[in-house]
Amino acid sequence: MSDAPATIAQTRSAIAGRAASAEEITRAALARIDAANPALNAFLQVFHDRAMAAARDIDRRVASGETPGPLAGVPIALKDNLCVGPEDGGGRTTCGSRFLENYESPFSATVVRRLAAAGAIIVGKTNLDEFAMGSSGENSAFGPTRNPWDHARIPGGSSAGSAAAVAAGMVPAALGSDTGGSIRQPAGFCGIVGLKPTYGRVSRYGLVAFASSLDQVGPMARTVADAAAILGVIAGPDLHDSTCSPREPEDFTRALETPVESLRIGIPRQARTSANHPAVAAALENAAAVFRRLGAEVIDVDLPHADYGIAAYYIVAPAEASSNLARFDGIRFGRRAELGPGETLMDLYCRSRGEGFGAEVQRRIMLGTYVLSAGYYDAYYLTALRARRKIKDDFDAVLAGTEDTAEDTGGRAAGGGTQAARGTAGPGRCHALLMPSAPTPAFRLGEKAADPLAMYAADVYTVGANLAGLPGITLPGGFAREGGVELPVGVQLIGAAWDEARLLRIARTLERELALPHHTPP
Ligand code: GLN
Repeated sequence: MSDAPATIAQTRSAIAGRAASAEEITRAALARIDAANPALNAFLQVFHDRAMAAARDIDRRVASGETPGPLAGVPIALKDNLCVGPEDGGGRTTCGSRFLENYESPFSATVVRRLAAAGAIIVGKTNLDEFAMGSSGENSAFGPTRNPWDHARIPGGSSAGSAAAVAAGMVPAALGSDTGGSIRQPAGFCGIVGLKPTYGRVSRYGLVAFASSLDQVGPMARTVADAAAILGVIAGPDLHDSTCSPREPEDFTRALETPVESLRIGIPRQARTSANHPAVAAALENAAAVFRRLGAEVIDVDLPHADYGIAAYYIVAPAEASSNLARFDGIRFGRRAELGPGETLMDLYCRSRGEGFGAEVQRRIMLGTYVLSAGYYDAYYLTALRARRKIKDDFDAVLAGTEDTAEDTGGRAAGGGTQAARGTAGPGRCHALLMPSAPTPAFRLGEKAADPLAMYAADVYTVGANLAGLPGITLPGGFAREGGVELPVGVQLIGAAWDEARLLRIARTLERELALPHHTPP
């Protein structure tokens, strides 16, 4: 096998056909990581010895005639808010925070257990905005990750390291988490595929919680087929997470082979604004033209409450974060401040949190505490929940689900949906919505770092799917030329809840028809 970064599908067939061993593939991935990581800062930990041992174990099993799992010998990276416990070799789970700099989880996330059981080789943990709060990768306590296409630019966030690692060819795939766009936005900025599943599709057990009603784990890969393969492994019921749906996942890989039915694709009016960079607008229109050429009906749709998305998200997410992060008190997990003589327990809490959390995390905790406090709860938090419901109803009104989906998605807070919006058919309703993954290509390091509102605005096209609990996928849609360098531009498809099989099929069709020349940075 050549040194070129392979997809999961290629890796799998190389191993099955004995063209390469898992050991060779893993050694090559580790070498690429070692070579590229000093410049990119995508990985916070690399598990050299353990990965090689796991690869040799896969080779032994293949040699003895065992059927290797669906990801046997595939090197995969994990965002460092996913816990790896002693059963999977241990290591630190830092969440990109000083607070958890030396934290070792006593158990593995369900998704980590499932990857391991499928034969994946977990090669390391990737950098992220602290506690997944950010849109650029600059909020990590361990330094920013850089975009492989242009090292002066951000890779997006918060799954910054996972996106950069896949884009740079260090690994064929990685896991990220998406609370308001953290898989899809960096995937777009780095020219890869990123899928946020329906809320409840994938277990959150062992994912360090940011905003529990919005968080989902999902795959980041170079092709839609690879994302489908990983989703098939990590999805499905988990008794450790009561918000994880009991429904069994379909065979998403097989679903890709089904021909796409006559499609109706909606483009939200709110996604065609003058704020879009010309290359973003061009990628969107080009994707629409591709669908039309394939015989799909492409229509304009209205998401009348989309403009409230950012405001609602930046109330709900910090509110939940302020509660989730209360556990980091200097007593049980991670950092504990040194106390001087006469200092109290309260000093311990305050000092540990003051020293351990970075500026953005402190800002979110204060925001969240404020909007939940007596006197402001109704004005802010409850109003945001109402907006969330409206946003979800907007999506339900324009998306044709494969089934009645209103009750079990979007978290209890967002649940519901109008009666008219339920069921399948529905005249004028769409099989997927097409929109950008972000209004611009990747911005420069430092460009928005001092302006939180400008940073938050980068999430305008991604928060909706989280607020509504819907699946969304970003794939490469084109390129922009900025200052002589080529930067990827993503396009996003959003589907009805539990409609990942169809969403992946639509994305696969678009990917094939776009046939972009190259998906790897120069
Ligand atoms: N950029 C958003 C935020 O900062 C989303 C982050 C995420 O999805 N984890 O909250």
